[in-house]
Amino acid sequence: SLEEVAPASEAKPGFLARLTGRSSAQPVVKRVLDDDMLEQLEELLIASDMGVDTALRVTANIAEGRFGKRLSTQEIKQILATEIARVMEPVAKPLPLYPTTPQVVLVVGVNGSGKTTTIGKLASQFKSAGKKVVIAAGDTFRAAAVEQLQVWGDRAGVPVLTAPEGSDPASLAFDAMTKAQEDGADLLLIDTAGRLQNRADLMEELSKIVRVIRKKDETAPHNTLLVLDATTGQNAVNQVETFQKLADVSGLVMTKLDGTAKGGILVSLADKFGLPIHAIGVGEQIDDLAPFDPEEFAAALTG
Ligand code: GDP
Repeated sequence: SLEEVAPASEAKPGFLARLTGRSSAQPVVKRVLDDDMLEQLEELLIASDMGVDTALRVTANIAEGRFGKRLSTQEIKQILATEIARVMEPVAKPLPLYPTTPQVVLVVGVNGSGKTTTIGKLASQFKSAGKKVVIAAGDTFRAAAVEQLQVWGDRAGVPVLTAPEGSDPASLAFDAMTKAQEDGADLLLIDTAGRLQNRADLMEELSKIVRVIRKKDETAPHNTLLVLDATTGQNAVNQVETFQKLADVSGLVMTKLDGTAKGGILVSLADKFGLPIHAIGVGEQIDDLAPFDPEEFAAALTG
């Protein structure tokens, strides 16, 4: 039953062992892939944050051509992993780099999702790859965020443009564009506010930032990255929907995949929105940003 199924955030490797009621150390048992088993599979997938629609679709794909066959847990796991990797393959895309300089990357997301950290990690990665990077601390309402971004900028060896607390983020973005263009920067990463309490304000703030940077380059921003926290589970779906209304989201970064959350929600997001997943956060250190690898992800998810 559903109550017996551990939620994704607590799912441990081997969670499919429940299907046979035996651990992998015991002799291989095969079970018929019948309605009962498919239902259990569905429940496991739903419990792993995959969302009902996606879980049903994935289960249907698994059943196709295999219904009534005898399968071991290992075989099911393998089929499931392949199925999940197949859903994820098309969205696994590193941040595209354009010849435009500076390439402007607007970073959006709710407070606490890991925007600041992700910007620091991205800055460090691109700097290491020989790119000239500038950061704009566009969340001017949170002094702590600005300070934190400065710390990351120092670590990465990348200049961080700031403005006094409470000042207009769009004016900072404009100044940052000017500086990035003057300096011949390859990449400008712009942090933004993540206060969803007043969406109309946030929408106006984001669109104003876009308007002013377009005065300097009408093709900017070239990417709008939405940062999502893996531990928020199904709430990530709402966040994507909300931010798609506020900004022209072009890709995702999912943070905190180093914890207990295995990010089953990403399957749901891939299925629903098809937005590219540019990177994943796998820790709090500067190098803890990894490309999204569908097979590795599917293997971790199925345990
Ligand atoms: P912001 O409010 O969106 O700018 O979020 P921050 O970048 O300040 O991150 C919020 C918290 O999440 C901080 O404590 C970060 O260290 C932590 N964090 C961010 N990314 C990751 C990650 O990939 N893994 C882990 N474990 N923690 C992360």
